Amino acid sequence: MSRLAFIGLGNMGSGMCANLVKAGHEVHAFDLNPDAVKQAVAAGATAAESIAAAVKGAEVVVTMLPAGKHVDQVYFGENGVAANAGPGTTFLDCSTIAVEESREAAKKAADAGFSYMDAPVSGGVAAAEGGTLTFMVGGPKEGYEKAKPVLDAMAKNVFHAGDAGNGQVAKIANNMLLGISMIGTCEAFNLAEKLGLDAQTFFDISSTASGQCWSMTSYCPAPGPVPAAPSNRDYKPGFAVAMMLKDLKLALASAEGAGADTPLGEHAQDIYAKLDEDGHAGLDFSGVMKRIRGEI
Ligand code: NAD
Repeated sequence: MSRLAFIGLGNMGSGMCANLVKAGHEVHAFDLNPDAVKQAVAAGATAAESIAAAVKGAEVVVTMLPAGKHVDQVYFGENGVAANAGPGTTFLDCSTIAVEESREAAKKAADAGFSYMDAPVSGGVAAAEGGTLTFMVGGPKEGYEKAKPVLDAMAKNVFHAGDAGNGQVAKIANNMLLGISMIGTCEAFNLAEKLGLDAQTFFDISSTASGQCWSMTSYCPAPGPVPAAPSNRDYKPGFAVAMMLKDLKLALASAEGAGADTPLGEHAQDIYAKLDEDGHAGLDFSGVMKRIRGEI
């Protein structure tokens, strides 16, 4: 078992930290929010009063932070992780940030003598609490081998996606497809209903025909066919519109830099941006069904 630092104990990080403790790791936890640290301590972690205290003696530092600027600050700011970690410490950033920011962080870490892995996740708060996240990992093979037992304690699936930043590439490409497929699924259910076909009958047919996709079979945006889906609790998240919009923006910014054509990704971003602007940032992303039905 390893001595770990965990920084960023928010919606996702708190459950992930608890699962690392459960797996027998010695976890020293830090967050700017003292209540989040208290919650980690209740789950069996040791409170750290600073980043420096958390990373002292750590073999692996795990971070779960809101955005790229926080990751840069936590790792490379004054009194940050890189300034305080011992030689050979592996950095494992699970936040969703831009591919370019992630590659830059890996380079800065390498220049300071550390191995940095990007390991963004698929799965929301329930998967973080249940230890059933999917991790997409970018970085050197040796770093991956070291990170794998730590990730296993929080995961259903762990994939090595290749070099630095490739975890983020997998995450944003996947979520761009998810945003597009969710809107398409909503359009299809709405069309079927408007033409006189009820949601359950359409689901029974399409879920075994060529229109089948995850947005339909696991997360159906029409209430009824998939009981656990947010559509059955008035689109309470789940995975909020604001989160989908964040991932689409990251995907499209990277697409532009790479010269990749993403017309449907752009259209999906416009639709989610409008929902966000209209005060629906906290709605589950499958709530785009309400917009397509003209209800919001
Ligand atoms: P959150 O805002 O709930 O948690 C972030 C935590 O980081 C907060 O507790 C905050 O206090 C802490 N923090 C910020 N700056 C800090 C600093 N300088 N030092 C120490 N702590 C600091 O966010 P979240 O929902 O847990 O998401 C975290 C990451 O996971 C994001 O990148 C998000 O895109 C990604 N993600 C979230 C979900 C989800 O469903 N919530 C799903 C997949 C991926």
